[in-house]
Amino acid sequence: MIMQDSFGRTIQYLRLSVTDLCNYRCIYCMPQEGVCKKSHADMLTIEEMTEIVRAAHALGINKVRLTGGEPLVRKGLLTLCRSIKMIDSTIELGITTNGSLLAPVAKELKDTGVDRLNISLDSLDPKTFNEITRGGDPQDVLRGIEAARHAGFDNIKINTVLLKDINDTELYDLIHLTKDNAIHVRFIELMPLGVAKNWERDRFMTTAVIESMLQNAELLRIDGVARVYRLPDHKGTIGLICPMSHSFCPSCNKIRVTADGKLKPCLHSDQEIDLRGLQGKELIEAIKNGILQKPQSHQFGSAIPSTPRYMNEIGG
Ligand code: SAM
Ligand code: SF4
Repeated sequence: MIMQDSFGRTIQYLRLSVTDLCNYRCIYCMPQEGVCKKSHADMLTIEEMTEIVRAAHALGINKVRLTGGEPLVRKGLLTLCRSIKMIDSTIELGITTNGSLLAPVAKELKDTGVDRLNISLDSLDPKTFNEITRGGDPQDVLRGIEAARHAGFDNIKINTVLLKDINDTELYDLIHLTKDNAIHVRFIELMPLGVAKNWERDRFMTTAVIESMLQNAELLRIDGVARVYRLPDHKGTIGLICPMSHSFCPSCNKIRVTADGKLKPCLHSDQEIDLRGLQGKELIEAIKNGILQKPQSHQFGSAIPSTPRYMNEIGG
């Protein structure tokens, strides 16, 4: 089955937030004091998440990414990965993680069938990284990346959010990671959501600054929402994701489900469809409705009400 939304976009990708909790408190994602811990009873169980993936798969979703909060703090994550692969082993299963807790579980994740890892790394400098994450150490993440490569993940993506006057002096160093390593470094424009909603506009930076550093690079492809480049003699690639400077909505192929079971047709919008308590045909019907309600584009910068959620609740 192939499911299209009302604007003819084929929807094949589900981002499922498995928790809104996190061991970091990134300055642009989560408030310093953390989030109010929701009651366990309000959050999706591993079984409910599996049923949501099963229903979405019946509608043509063949790519699932587990996110959060930090997915690696969610109890039962390995069971969930196994159950998703049992629905259909051809579902492409990815995880977006901050990487800090990855080293000890990388091999198990690979063995349960996880296909892809996206690892967030906003800075290589210990002081800057500690400031951004409010307490993290980049060495933990680098160890996680190394362990994942040893475990056999050969298509790791590093995600870096561009933060003006914070990590903009390190862009060459981050690009340089692609020289000898076959990894993909993706630079992402900060979006005015959650904590960052109230940030001054001069703290935002566009990917144009990276493009100016890629004069010799070859544009390899446009991959979903990313433009992918390779510098001469570099093993890895560089991706630019520009939700702010270039609308990525025409190629949007995804829906999101929050850890408390709300389907979000669009990252930015406050529109949500409650999936909790639904099963079988009812659940499939609700997801189908969500897909059909996807707006044509996000409305960053407009007066239209945006989601009141923090990014750790949406999953990025
Ligand atoms: N904890 C995991 C991590 O950090 O990778 C997964 C969840 S996190 C919300 C997913 C991604 O969203 C991260 O790469 C993070 O940098 C990004 N993110 C969070 N807030 C953002 C914002 N306002 N604009 C752009 N990206 C954001
Ligand atoms: Fe946690 Fe990821 Fe948000 Fe950072 S970006 S606070 S690691 S959920």
